[in-house]
Amino acid sequence: MRKPFIAANWKMNKTQSDTWEFLSKFIPEVKDRPDVDIAVAPPFTSLPAAAEKLVNTGIILTSQNVFYEEKGAYTGEISPLMLVDIGCKYTIIGHSERRQYFDETDDIVNRKIKASKKAGLGVIVCIGESLDEREAGKTFNVLQRELEKGLDGVTPHDTVIAYEPIWAIGTGKTATPEQAQDAHAYIRGRLRILYGNKADEFCIIYGGSVTPDNVDSLMSCEDVDGALVGGASLKVESFTRIVKFRKGQ
Ligand code: PEP
Repeated sequence: MRKPFIAANWKMNKTQSDTWEFLSKFIPEVKDRPDVDIAVAPPFTSLPAAAEKLVNTGIILTSQNVFYEEKGAYTGEISPLMLVDIGCKYTIIGHSERRQYFDETDDIVNRKIKASKKAGLGVIVCIGESLDEREAGKTFNVLQRELEKGLDGVTPHDTVIAYEPIWAIGTGKTATPEQAQDAHAYIRGRLRILYGNKADEFCIIYGGSVTPDNVDSLMSCEDVDGALVGGASLKVESFTRIVKFRKGQ
């Protein structure tokens, strides 16, 4: 059985003091949810504050990005070893904003995944189609390409796949539970081709305008194992409600 995995992606939001304030309120609220893996991804500059606050809470410290080299002359970059050193257990890789604004290709995504795994960092790998691709009937082609190229040579342990249709990110347009389930079932099928029975070990989480109002129906889908949450993870109240989703509602 896969444990649900709910992750907050704060993007470029929250200073160290904002982080401290958020986690001071959030941690006691979710103490009664040990049956859910909760991950929080603050910006790099707030990782030290979050690391201090999350000690002994079981909440997974996560970064939003990583570079694929261990060290060297790469001004402005952060290596997997540095993230492990600060207490990160996971990193997000291949978010559509990184692919769109920073030209991250499938090859770069693959290198980042491999480097992170080598350093002992788990990965949340984002894949998903644009609106044009969906309307052209190419959703599954995009998912197949991003999965096969991104995961080439990658072992299954500590690998979470985030299905994030680009048209649903930050737009308030959530995929319907049927659209999410279709995509997740397709992803599970491709993982089965790549990994055989080990495909069942992967958590496949949904991202794209998840809110307290739609989380229950999304989490009720058979192949939706969790959520990657942007906007609605910035407020303690809404992220707490998302972590406390109720299946079958
Ligand atoms: C995200 O950034 O991964 C995301 C899903 O954002 P939002 O929840 O705001 O759509």
